[in-house]
Amino acid sequence: MKQLIYADNAATTQLDKDAFEAMIPWLLDEYGNASQPYTLARKPKSALFQARRTIAECINALPEEIYFTSGGTESDNWAIKGSAFVDTVKRTTITSAFEHHAILNSCKAIERLGFPVTYIWPTSEGIIAPDTLAQIITNQTRLVSTMLANNEIGTIQPIKELCDIAHAHGALFHTDAVQAVGHVKIDVQGLGIDMLSASAHKFNGPKGIGFLYIRKGTQIIPYADGGAQENGYRAGTENIASIVGMAVALRNNCTHLEENVAYVQSLERLLLKELQEAQILFIRNGGKNTLPGLLSLSFSGAGGEAILHRLDLMGISISTGSACNSENTEISHVLKAIQLEEKQAKGTVRISLGRNNTEEDVEGIVGALTKILR
Ligand code: PLP
Repeated sequence: MKQLIYADNAATTQLDKDAFEAMIPWLLDEYGNASQPYTLARKPKSALFQARRTIAECINALPEEIYFTSGGTESDNWAIKGSAFVDTVKRTTITSAFEHHAILNSCKAIERLGFPVTYIWPTSEGIIAPDTLAQIITNQTRLVSTMLANNEIGTIQPIKELCDIAHAHGALFHTDAVQAVGHVKIDVQGLGIDMLSASAHKFNGPKGIGFLYIRKGTQIIPYADGGAQENGYRAGTENIASIVGMAVALRNNCTHLEENVAYVQSLERLLLKELQEAQILFIRNGGKNTLPGLLSLSFSGAGGEAILHRLDLMGISISTGSACNSENTEISHVLKAIQLEEKQAKGTVRISLGRNNTEEDVEGIVGALTKILR
């Protein structure tokens, strides 16, 4: 059988085996509803408590600041809309032009309701420059929301500086950290951020579960009205199995963060070196400070879609842009925002290596790319 090489870890990751095993009891035997007062509910309730504590420890938050959601999209929607809808004077939201569509479309939704939104253009290296934010922010800004790391080109943003500028003007600061949580060290208190979105399937957890960190005291409306779950802010019977799986996956990734980063970066260096040795011409987008393992590569004059499909026929999964964009053959909004030349943009692919990749995978990818591009 043809060997598969999965190099699209920014789209999703393989479930951690410990996380999978930790989930099973909550699906089969311990199926009680954590909100009930009887014995069968006691263990799920305690698992929920423990998972919240584990996740909070991983990002240096308090357990009561972690709100479970269905994933990154929901967390982003909640942060943008939930913080706007408490604002009776409709102050401005500032975000960047190359956010994930979960943020951009949430911003469009509040704009339709009369909440102003201003979009910052990133630099050609994919950075949201603090100076640019400082120039446009006013005391009428309610929220600044910028991603921690871009999902197509991987650039890690100067979050602390951006957050400090927001706070100096009395605005809240939210970050979409969906690509970063479990892959780079995050300390919400050190950074000073008010809200942070995360999604388990990006850090080897199960799909359909995530969380929104909301700093204690932050003004926000509930995401879903109903029962008293999530302190009355996100009603609905808790998905204990997925929450436990998410906590185990995040704990494992955070415990092994440094070695995972070193390993994935060594694969990244190998891939770049081998491409150069094969004399394949490319440029790498996203500047110098990017997510470990995420490579946005432009092969001028080639077609990114064609490369993706030919690699797929060879058993290799990569992406042209973000997962949510793969049906769309237009140049992505991210590459447009960094003003990449059209010839380069059309020949851009995203290779995202993860902790499960091997040197053989990298050699397979380079070998296949060499065949396609020569
Ligand atoms: N934000 C970013 C930066 C992402 O990369 C993604 C998914 O690709 C999302 C949000 C949406 O996350 P989810 O798939 O959990 O809804």
